Amino acid sequence: MSEVRARTLPSGVSDPGAVDAVIVGAGFAGLYMLHRLRGLGFSTRVYEAGSGVGGTWFWNRYPGARCDVESLEYSYSFSDELQSDWKWTERYASQPEILSYLNHVAERFDLHRSIQFETRVTAATFDEAANRWIIRTDRGDRVSARFCIMATGCLSAAKIPELEGIETFKGKRYHTGHWPHEGVDFTGQTVGVIGTGSSAIQSIPEIARQAKQLFVFQRTPNFSVPAHNAPLSADVIQDWNANLASYRNMERTSAFGFMHEPSTKGALEVAPEERQREYETRWQRGGFHLIGAFTDILVSKDANDTAAAFVRSKIRGIVRDPAVAEALMPTSYPIGTKRLCVDTHYFATFNRSNVTLVDLQASPIEAVTTAGVRTSAAEYSLDSIVFATGFDAMTGALSNIDIRGRAGVALKQKWYEGPRTYLGIMVAGFPNLFTITGPGSPSVLSNMVVSIEQHVDWIADCLAHLREHRLALIEATLDAENAWVTHVNDVGHQTLFPLANSWYMGANIPGKPRVFMPYIGGVGPYRQKCDEVAAKGYEGFILSQAATYA
Ligand code: NAP
Repeated sequence: MSEVRARTLPSGVSDPGAVDAVIVGAGFAGLYMLHRLRGLGFSTRVYEAGSGVGGTWFWNRYPGARCDVESLEYSYSFSDELQSDWKWTERYASQPEILSYLNHVAERFDLHRSIQFETRVTAATFDEAANRWIIRTDRGDRVSARFCIMATGCLSAAKIPELEGIETFKGKRYHTGHWPHEGVDFTGQTVGVIGTGSSAIQSIPEIARQAKQLFVFQRTPNFSVPAHNAPLSADVIQDWNANLASYRNMERTSAFGFMHEPSTKGALEVAPEERQREYETRWQRGGFHLIGAFTDILVSKDANDTAAAFVRSKIRGIVRDPAVAEALMPTSYPIGTKRLCVDTHYFATFNRSNVTLVDLQASPIEAVTTAGVRTSAAEYSLDSIVFATGFDAMTGALSNIDIRGRAGVALKQKWYEGPRTYLGIMVAGFPNLFTITGPGSPSVLSNMVVSIEQHVDWIADCLAHLREHRLALIEATLDAENAWVTHVNDVGHQTLFPLANSWYMGANIPGKPRVFMPYIGGVGPYRQKCDEVAAKGYEGFILSQAATYA
């Protein structure tokens, strides 16, 4: 099979080409998927909306943007040479470093030539007569593909809140997920940041250092733990390299896709002093380790309360003004049920004289005005507003594409009451359409790179299997899908996650159904399930004959 050369087509010109597979997106998922399919000899084209590779790391260039999974672990494991050649410099990699890494990967594996940039896929329609997907783009492309693989990311459809008067604001507006490539200099400005999720918590300390005055508009306070970021030491790197195979295996068989010290006790099984010591050790270590301190933090409210109280006591200790500290303390949901944030000096930033917390619970935003933001208590004049207001998570990027399966049924319609998938990989009624880290898989509850590699490998093996057996189609059965959705819900409801108004639950998007979208059964058990399904001849899928492969 011949490689399809990428080229940028002039607007309005249609491409009648046919390929084995179209991949939508050139982030971590799309790049590795392309590499695997090319290795298997499938003709493949990638469409990417950005002008470069990187996905999340291409768009999220806000000050302070950094991964909250440690750099050594937040990296591909598929190539030993890549692993030994690439040198991470910090414990948690910054956005520019991750983007350089992904550019390096694209160059190293010669991926650019199969990617058509600045091209957004607008529609994907399954042609039942031909058993092929017809993919259309905003540049007029029309390409037919046997397989359509969505590598569109879980947090890629940026959400600007529907606030009255946004368009009238005379100053500058930014969204953290669409940051200008040339950067923004806030020196001398009065800036408002709306939101206090991960993006805000990372950017606020950086913006505060530049701005004359910073107002932080907080609707819901967030739990955050320190990153304790630092340059990677030679010892850490040496240990990583010496134990690479076993560490990678630990990730793949773990609960969340990264290495952690597993706990063996429940939080209430130990004496208060021991509990405190354990939390303190993990706080000093930094990152997500705190949430793994005890076995039951995410399943028992009483256990969870002890971890939440610990973090609140830390906030009280860091923030000098007791009223501000109080307002920064989350109380309305269990810790960990909204994504835990990992920060560098976030709470301490509120000790600065140029930073003011605006508590929207006390006085909600009424409107954006020409001059700034008006709450029920005051009007704030601003030069710039930074919307750190998040994403239409997990389903948003897919809903933005008009995806139609059998009988012209729209995926959006099928998912009207919440996403339904089999294993988070396929959807009944949408043959040969794959969703990498789709809803119903561990995805956002895991180290994304580990989950991406697992899905990509599973999909690549599946396509190879179909070709080997001269099969045209693979399609999830409705029964398998229903059973999986029930299982995902059952497991989700054994945890505290449904208690929070989180984006995991679709709660940040008005009108979005409240469904716990990711799968919390654990990265390791989930991988095992997927492998078993494949080993049993793709149990729960219908595979059908009569393919002609070029
Ligand atoms: P987010 O977690 O959804 O946070 C959005 C923030 O905006 C929330 O504080 C939300 O308040 C607020 N908000 C939304 N609409 C609002 C409105 N109308 N008025 C006032 N406030 C409003 O979004 P994010 O910070 O971009 O993070 C999304 C996810 O991306 C993270 O959870 C994480 O998984 C990932 N991420 C990771 C990193 C990293 O690796 N370090 C960095 C950034 C993002 P409510 O809570 O009240 O809704």
